[in-house]
Amino acid sequence: MQTSEVTENIHLHWRRTKIIATLGPASKSEKKITELIDAGVNVFRLNMSHGTHEEHRLLAERIRKISKRKKEYVAILMDLCGPKIRVGDFENGEIELKSGDDVVVSCSATIGMDGLIASQYRSLYKDVKKDERILLDDGKIELKVKMIDEKDVNCEVIYGGILKNKKGLNLPDSNISTNSFTAKDKKDTELAIELNADFLALSFVRDEKCIKTLKRYVKKSGGDIPVIAKIEKPEAINKIEEILSEADGIMVARGDLGIEMRAQQVPLIQKELINKARLHGKPVIVATQMLESMITSSKPTRAEVGDVATAALSSTDAVMLSAETASGDYPVLAVNMMDDILCEMEVYQWQHGKFGEADFEQCAEMIEPDRKAVARAVKSLSNELKLQGIIVPTRSGSTASILSADRPGSPLIGVSSNEAVCRRLALCWGVVPIYIKEKITHDWQGLCNKVADMCNIATTGNRVLLVSGFSDDVSLNEPVLKLMRIKD
Ligand code: PGA
Ligand code: MN
Repeated sequence: MQTSEVTENIHLHWRRTKIIATLGPASKSEKKITELIDAGVNVFRLNMSHGTHEEHRLLAERIRKISKRKKEYVAILMDLCGPKIRVGDFENGEIELKSGDDVVVSCSATIGMDGLIASQYRSLYKDVKKDERILLDDGKIELKVKMIDEKDVNCEVIYGGILKNKKGLNLPDSNISTNSFTAKDKKDTELAIELNADFLALSFVRDEKCIKTLKRYVKKSGGDIPVIAKIEKPEAINKIEEILSEADGIMVARGDLGIEMRAQQVPLIQKELINKARLHGKPVIVATQMLESMITSSKPTRAEVGDVATAALSSTDAVMLSAETASGDYPVLAVNMMDDILCEMEVYQWQHGKFGEADFEQCAEMIEPDRKAVARAVKSLSNELKLQGIIVPTRSGSTASILSADRPGSPLIGVSSNEAVCRRLALCWGVVPIYIKEKITHDWQGLCNKVADMCNIATTGNRVLLVSGFSDDVSLNEPVLKLMRIKD
């Protein structure tokens, strides 16, 4: 393979794979948010596991203010913690657990100390049984249950380490009785509606019912926010078709998934989930530890570079940074690095006309036949003719996202007169959201010239494809595919 030949002399105008950055203490200032947008962030994640409502309100206002000033459609994804179990605080901020020692995980203690961990989840003693595992801090520390004495779970430390305040706790062998939509999630959802968040993500989804519950709550509270299902439990893998039918997108939440299942299962699950989400016409996010070493180092490991590259080559819609941008030493460098790796892969994919693995012919039945056929035709035209852009006037964003799901080579320019739709399109693979104030008419040549001008592809003679004519009412569909030249 002549890679040097492949990547030389070509620079794609737009990156197709989107970048999500989690905000936190390392990136919350106006200056950092501006730099992150400049570095290429498409979506900011507000993680409700940390921070107060006041802090999140301030962050959301900042993002909106800066993106408005920069005329960039950057989305806000609010991530609900769901039944994420955490340990409480320690008298001295942390304790050391040594392999072979005994330790008590207590459901009544309020503060931990040497030999004692306070569980924030107060029913833990009801859910665990003798010989089951309790994993701490992303599974780095492992305990085995020896005996349950009232509300105290007595354990042996199998693999030790330092355990700090509020680290995560997983029970991969136990049936957990908590609800997946907690009282805190309800309050956080109300905040998301108040702040006009563009996406809600729900953690530890078990089945489609969890999504329905959240959607019902959003509607009842007067909101309208698409829901991303975080896939991080084996139950969710078993119910993936149902979840994909109900949710508006999924996240491969590899951190918890790699604890709840065997870590070596995660790469194939990731690949399958990307393909399945695409075939449902829904966006998919690959998350966690992508550039983990950049929390403390200015350069990633070669293995991390390979991981981001693999996600791009499997054609995920988006990749996500967590602690790298929230609390790391190099938030902007991490985004720059991610952007560089993605672009390098995409040039190769563009030249080989090979974006995406799964064949859209196999897409889910819920995708209407007309849209599926048009998506396939658009992909084939755009790849064969190496078009400069596919221009899609889109009212709700659904036509643009179905076209995106087939991964055509040319950038999809989603044109909407609704700013919320533009922000939602920021998550979809290959879509460049363009906002135009005035109502879109059928003057297609005028529209193409104007849009091409706005996105800087307006060289006379350049060819673009216009796709229009879909309606919410299928019986009114009259799809239009028009190959056009940009004119002076
Ligand atoms: P989290 O989700 O960062 O909210 O835990 C992502 C993951 O588990 O990978
Ligand atoms: Mn998680």
